[in-house]
Amino acid sequence: MMSKTMQDALNEQMKHEFYSSYLYLSMSAYCDRANLPGLARWMRAQAQEETKHAMKIFDHVLDRGGRVELRELGPPPVDFSSPKDVFDQAHKHEQQVTASINKVYGLAVDERDFASTVFLDWFVREQVEEEKTSGLLAEQLRMVGEDRPGLLMLDRELGQRKSGAAEATSDPT
Ligand code: FE
Repeated sequence: MMSKTMQDALNEQMKHEFYSSYLYLSMSAYCDRANLPGLARWMRAQAQEETKHAMKIFDHVLDRGGRVELRELGPPPVDFSSPKDVFDQAHKHEQQVTASINKVYGLAVDERDFASTVFLDWFVREQVEEEKTSGLLAEQLRMVGEDRPGLLMLDRELGQRKSGAAEATSDPT
């Protein structure tokens, strides 16, 4: 059984993960409108990953006899100024998610809720990956700048990403 404080923090983190999914879906739609189907596909897969993150927390709260509370998600931005702006914002967003995971982790340590620290270890590692990838792509889009062929090449490359759903079947985590 987890404390009410821990339960609240996890429900709040679950909201952040669902919001990430919302944000990346909105970014995917923007990229599609901008005729960059590869970037759109990459962001759509990212959105699916975020739903999986939220569901991990959903299950953890239930497994510990807690109460799942789904919270209201504000609308994500609809318009972005450029593909680079999309990935800059995604990178900034992941840094905020990391800060928020660290806060929940700190709380779990304070409460000696070790079932939750072990559970959250996965998220701590995942955030290293998320920040690295979003930072790299933001940087590559900065390098591409106004170079259209470069942008189209990056679009082709990101379009190779498998969908989040396909990853789910090969990777049970
Ligand atoms: Fe996440």
